[in-house]
Amino acid sequence: MSVAPALNPTRIDFKMQLIPCPWCGPRNENEFVYQGDAKILRPLDPSAASDEEWTSYLYLRDNPRGMHREHWNHRYGCRQWFELERNTLDHTAIALTSIVTPKETS
Ligand SMILES: [Zn+2]
Repeated sequence: MSVAPALNPTRIDFKMQLIPCPWCGPRNENEFVYQGDAKILRPLDPSAASDEEWTSYLYLRDNPRGMHREHWNHRYGCRQWFELERNTLDHTAIALTSIVTPKETS
């Protein structure tokens, strides 16, 4: 019976992901806040939306393998919103310049 080697916390290689802000350039990921899937759109007429449309808007999300468009905010930098295309397999990211309407989040 083989035994897995014990983890040595001093040997774990922590690599911080760099996120390319369109205004500031590549910055440490802890300066940013992920704000969700960029392709999710609020129903145009909320009062006419069905329960299924609201359920889809509020709760249903894809879990893609590969490229994914996301909303990000450079909260501890320039505070700008932008869309980012990120590969969920290797975390390579390409900043897109489209600007998202700023909104307050708690
Ligand atoms: Zn920035």
